[in-house]
Amino acid sequence: MAQTIADVRGVLSGRRDGSIGIVPTMGALHEGHRSLLRAARAECDTVVMTLFVNPAQFSDRADLQRYPHNETHDLESARKAGVDVVFAPSADEMYPPGFQTWVDVTELGEILEGAHRPGHFRGVATVVLKLFTIVRPTHAYFGQKDAQQVEVIRRLIRDLALEIELRVLPTVRDADGVALSSRNGRLTPDERERAVAFSRALATGDADAARALLAASNGLEIDYIERADFDPPVLAGAVRIGSTRLIDNVVLEGDEA
Ligand code: AMP
Repeated sequence: MAQTIADVRGVLSGRRDGSIGIVPTMGALHEGHRSLLRAARAECDTVVMTLFVNPAQFSDRADLQRYPHNETHDLESARKAGVDVVFAPSADEMYPPGFQTWVDVTELGEILEGAHRPGHFRGVATVVLKLFTIVRPTHAYFGQKDAQQVEVIRRLIRDLALEIELRVLPTVRDADGVALSSRNGRLTPDERERAVAFSRALATGDADAARALLAASNGLEIDYIERADFDPPVLAGAVRIGSTRLIDNVVLEGDEA
């Protein structure tokens, strides 16, 4: 595992002739993350997984502090998935004292999730660009689960002319339809049961029908349910169940991702 920028650059210096795939994660790995790692392993000579809970993308301090950590489990998962290099920097390594350079994907970063979590996508875009400049990947792997994040990164790659192939993998779900998320672990058994209503509502593919279904189900508070003209178009939403906030989306046209 590399913890410094110098270390990861050193490890990668001998591997730059071939393709390099990056899989950015915040840890607490589940099958959704593993699907990205598998795709990267199948397509790239070198697979780099990054493990960094990015403080800049959390507007809520309590949410950051509660974010699940399990480095031993994550390193074991990465090893089993055939990851070549894990880059797990400290917050100081990524944001050294005096840090003041930010990347803002202005319009896309302000709608939907961005409207509810001001500064979130500025944090995402900044850290992802920094990880890209450190690792210099040929391919980057992201999940359709975070559809707006994918759209922001696609825009970033285009706007700044980065030479990176973006790969987007379909959302991995539990058998009952609930999208896998590190945050699901925070739900009580009762809340976990109620979470099914969220994925069922989105599965209607219609914002009004989804809102009506959720209004009728007990105790889910809607932050937003909206169609978004992303590539591909999605019905995206965020709900709060107790103290946990979940996001999810369904693809509206063509095949997922
Ligand atoms: P995170 O660790 O939550 O930042 O997620 C790291 C990557 O895994 C992001 O590209 C996510 O979109 C992706 N991801 C998270 N959950 C899922 C899921 N259920 N299915 C597919 N990809 C996912």
